[in-house]
Parts: sequence; structure tokens; C-alpha cells
Amino acid sequence: MNILLLYPEMPDTFWAMKHLMKIISKKSSYPPLGLLTISRLLPNDWEKKLVDLNVTNLSPADVEWADYVFISAMNVQAEYAKKAIEYCKKFNKKVVAGGPLFTHEFEKFSEVDHFVLNEAEITLPIFIKDITEGKPQRYYTTGEFADVTQSPLPDWNLIDLNKYAYAIVQYSRGCPYRCDFCDVTTLFGRKPRTKTSNQIIDELNLILASGNPGMILFADDNLIGNRRDLKNNLLPALIDWRRRNKNAPGFATQVTINLADDEEMMKLMIEAGFRHIFVGIESVSEESLEDCKKTQNLRRDLLENVKLLQQKGYIVTGGFIVGFDSDKESIFQEQIEFIQNSGIVMATVNILKAPPGTDLNIKLKLEDRLIEPFDFDENMTNIITKMDKMVLYNGYKKILDNIYNPQKIYNRASQFLSYYGNHRAENPIRKEFAFNDLVTLFKIIYFSGIMGKGRLYFWRLFIRTIFVNRKNIVHALLFGALIFQFQRLHEKFMLSYYQISESL
Ligand code: SF4
Repeated sequence: MNILLLYPEMPDTFWAMKHLMKIISKKSSYPPLGLLTISRLLPNDWEKKLVDLNVTNLSPADVEWADYVFISAMNVQAEYAKKAIEYCKKFNKKVVAGGPLFTHEFEKFSEVDHFVLNEAEITLPIFIKDITEGKPQRYYTTGEFADVTQSPLPDWNLIDLNKYAYAIVQYSRGCPYRCDFCDVTTLFGRKPRTKTSNQIIDELNLILASGNPGMILFADDNLIGNRRDLKNNLLPALIDWRRRNKNAPGFATQVTINLADDEEMMKLMIEAGFRHIFVGIESVSEESLEDCKKTQNLRRDLLENVKLLQQKGYIVTGGFIVGFDSDKESIFQEQIEFIQNSGIVMATVNILKAPPGTDLNIKLKLEDRLIEPFDFDENMTNIITKMDKMVLYNGYKKILDNIYNPQKIYNRASQFLSYYGNHRAENPIRKEFAFNDLVTLFKIIYFSGIMGKGRLYFWRLFIRTIFVNRKNIVHALLFGALIFQFQRLHEKFMLSYYQISESL
């Protein structure tokens, strides 16, 4: 049996960082971990080929070769998933779909032959059995959650890791919190299930054997969801692994803001190699945080928490949302001031959405406040908002105009770099210089320092860091490249803004 594993293109969003990828000579941010794991769940004697449409094209020969096409996608890839499915159906191929997009919205994909939904560790073996017995069904679902200690190692042989900025592992699934705009608890439950330390170390060793990427992403929705296991098992194992692998890449992940309450955890995570963390800050308004049930962000000084994390050695990416029912017109300026004062260089701001599979979606459906169909576009919402739509879009535009302004990025980056790097890690992240780094340096200078509209601020940041804080020069170059990335995102937003304002 020949199986084509197909990963649709990612749209040009904050997370895809497509323009940054061009500068650092990578094709995509990270590989499709789900499909790499699916490959190992399929029988050993089946032939497998993986085509990630973010790094390569799909050829007619690839599709013709396949007996089945397995496609996996997230909500944000809906449009490209549809196109990929249509293409494969032209060859009369059987298409099997799974992953978060199809688990929530399978009814939108009538051309798919078989849906293997929820967690594949449970549903896929049943589908395989049915195929081998010649009686496959259309839907495979489960209300159970998989035992991730039994999940197989991903099949890294299927991809060229050098094409990606990050390698990827996943330690836990599920999150104890219940933010109402988030589908994680529907998909994976509220009790975080964790892999064993040995599983993760095996995965990391396999990654190093497949090439040494710049960074490894722990693709957990909330890494610190199960603190006891993390502190007692995984982090000590990662610290030990890093001591044995002196040139091991650093780690990136997602955490909740209350990491800042736990001195021991902050220290252990730094020693284990975590540096880049995404934190959902969402709003500076307590009322809006109450609205969305982001309880862990309430009754705390969010700004001080972020600064503490930065001083401890973390590079914080912050997620923000506007458009909550409680938001007043002052929220836009308040969010801008928070972001500027926080020194968060990478900030992503969205208009509140109610994706399928979330508590918010259920609530707004009952209130008859949903706009169909759902579109994951960062600049859109599927909610009939309480705030006047034009006020909301103008306020949102004001935030993006501000935070993507090169001077403002420069100010945040200078502020951050002025105190970042004073922390001491017993296990520093070392990087051996490679020829590719020189190529990347020239590309950053070309795109950001010569061609970029924010080139003045790029050079200011570069020169200031050389004179004031030379050990942070790699970070200064990254932020310089981000000026270019954010300019492109802002141009894309302006196009959709003009369309939206004409339609309102
Ligand atoms: S903390 Fe993060 S992962 Fe957990 S429910 Fe909230 S948004 Fe989702």
C-alpha cells in the first residue's frame, strides 16, 4: 500500500513568519509533527511519502503513486487544505483526513472519503483494520483521550530537517485552564497527559541524528500544565541531556503567565534550554479577561510578570486580543501602551474569534451572534461584536500601525536588549558558527538594512548593540529581521483593511 502524507500550505500569518523564513534561508517554520507520527502508526510494510506543501510542490507523479492520500491540517490551513483535496480528487484518489481542522469542521469537506478524527493513536488503528478487511467506514471518532506514553517516535526519515527553522517535539496534550476562545480542552481535555522523559530524550536524540536545527519547538499548548511531572521528571532529564550534548539547540514553547510565580520552575526551564516562550496575555482589561475566563491572568501585574520573565532569560512573545464584549474604546491605546512598555518585540494581536469547538462558539451560537462561515484570517472575526465594527477595525488598525512601526519595534528591542542577557545559565546554549550563518547575515543586511523601509532603525539597533551590549548581537539581528517581517505583515493587513472598510 502506498500512502501519500500531505500537509497543506500555511497562509501568510504571524505564525508562519514566511518573510523571515526567506531571510534565514528556511522554507518553513516547523515540520508537520502529526503526519510524522501518523507515519509510525501505519503498518511497517506500507510505503510512505510525505509532501509538505510549505517546502515543496505536489507533483502529479506523487499523487498517482499513492493508493491513499492522508491529509492533516489546522483550522488556519482550511483554504489550502480544500485546494489540496480538490487536486488529489482529480486523480480519483481516496482521501483520508484528520487533525484539528477536520475534527471540528469535517462537514465542510464533502470530497473527503474517510475522516479519522480526534487522536489518531485511538482512531487510526481501527481504520487500518477496516481497510485491511476491505470495509472502511467514513467516520472514525472517539471521546477517549490517548495514552501518550504509548505514542511512537516521529518518522524523521520522511523530511529534510534543514528546510525548517525549528525541529519539533510534543511533551504534553491538554491544558487545565478553560479560556473560552480556545479549542485545546475540547481536543485534548483538561488533564494534561505527558510523555515520559525517556520518550522525549529519544525524540531529541533522533532529531540531533537527523541534523542540528537552530531551535527545537516543544509544541505543547501549555508546557507547564502538569507542573509536578515537568519539575520532577522532564526538566531534570533535559538538563542532563543538555550537559551531555554541548551544542544542543535551544527550546521554544508556550506557557501561561503564572510561570512568573514559580522561581524554581523559571530557573529549571532556563537550565533545560528554554529561551523563547509564547505567553497568551490577551488583554490588559480585567473585565475582558473575566469575559474569556482567562483566570490565570487575573489579579496580577502582567507588565511586571513579563519583565521578570525577560530578566530571568526568556524572550517573550505575547499574544493579545481585542473585541471582547467588555472592551471599551480605550482598550486599543491601553494595549499599545502595554506592548510598548513591556519590551515584547514579537507581539501578535488578533480580533477575537469564536472557532468551532470552543465554549465561546457554543455561547455565541445560542446568542445568534456568529457569522458563517468561520474564517481563521488573523484580521477577521466571525462574531457580531458589541462594539461597532468600524470602531473595532479602526482601533485594531491603530494597534498594528503602532506595534509594526519600525521605530516602535526598535524602541521595544532596545529596551529588551538593555536588560536581557544578564541572567546566568549553568548550561548556556552554544552555537557553532556555520557557513550558512554568514549567508543569513548578508541576507538580513540586504533585506532589512538595505531594502527594508525600516532600515534606519535596523542600523541603529545593530550599531547600538555593538557598542552597548555586544553579547546580544544575534538577538539584535533577529529583531532587525523582524522589522522586515512585520512590515510585510502590515502591508498585507492594510489590503484587507481597505476591503473590510469598503464592505462595512
Ligand atoms: S491556557 Fe492556553 S492552551 Fe490553555 S485553555 Fe487557555 S489559551 Fe488554551
